[in-house]
Amino acid sequence: MNILIMGAPGSGKGTMSRLISENFGITHVSSGDLFRQNIKDDTPIGNQAREFIEQGLLVPDDITIEIVKERILEFDCEQGFLLDGFPRTSFQAHAFERIEKQINRPIDLVINLVVDRELLVKRITGRRMCPVCSSIYNIFLSPPKVKGVCDKDGRTLLQRPDDTLEALSVRLEQYDTHTQPMLEYYRERGIVKDIDGSGGVEPVWKQIKELMERLNAQE
Ligand code: ADP
Repeated sequence: MNILIMGAPGSGKGTMSRLISENFGITHVSSGDLFRQNIKDDTPIGNQAREFIEQGLLVPDDITIEIVKERILEFDCEQGFLLDGFPRTSFQAHAFERIEKQINRPIDLVINLVVDRELLVKRITGRRMCPVCSSIYNIFLSPPKVKGVCDKDGRTLLQRPDDTLEALSVRLEQYDTHTQPMLEYYRERGIVKDIDGSGGVEPVWKQIKELMERLNAQE
């Protein structure tokens, strides 16, 4: 199955993607993770993308389309892929439509995680991450036992540079202007399922798991 997962920043796309990938054996492709890896590895793409990402702006379409296209052509996507964070603009959606046709792997399902603004802001501005084991905490919702350090390995927790309130305001505005309207394009294809993403991990995952099991049974 080829799936897109959509939703505003903080809607839980990353968390749900990992669960889908682990439980259904679908390769998770996150455009944000691809960029962050390129930044870490100091590649030319990473250097081009860094400035946009840190300000909360979208990376230009041509760079983004290229990096995602290359990734989904890798062999581990042949049995299905789960795209997280792409497409994010109508231009990307149209470019992706051509790629879908070229490789003959159409999108079967778009999972749209719906979460209200106040909670999104809390989730993002409160998010802290362990740079070593990647455990994620939230200073408001799920704080570590000792302030500022990871429960598992005692390392100092970090905030993603684009998780500040300032960068988040830009990200939310970019979402409203570019990504939300793009959803209509997939609604017209009749493949969008809205999921209430405001509960904890368990209730949201339960809805997605049941949906996917139903769809798998129909295949
Ligand atoms: P979130 O969905 O929470 O904003 P991501 O990790 O998906 O987080 O993306 C982080 C940043 O990476 C975005 O704010 C943007 O700068 C860049 N990015 C990721 N995907 C795309 C895309 N499809 N088009 C343009 N920029 C992107």
